[in-house]
Amino acid sequence: MRRHWNAKLTVEQVVELRRLHYDLGLCKRCAAKVVGVPRQTAYDAIVFQTWRHVEDSATVAS
Ligand SMILES: [Zn+2]
Repeated sequence: MRRHWNAKLTVEQVVELRRLHYDLGLCKRCAAKVVGVPRQTAYDAIVFQTWRHVEDSATVAS
């Protein structure tokens, strides 16, 4: 059975998660809490396992 961790995120949520983590230095768990998404979903988005096509210049630059 396959678990669907990959809950739907909006582009805004993905960008916000990365901003919180990479720019503001929140850990992934706190970033997930702030944005209000499941931790694993946030992890995946933050580490670019998913949403690879979303590029945030501020994130990429760091
Ligand atoms: Zn934290």
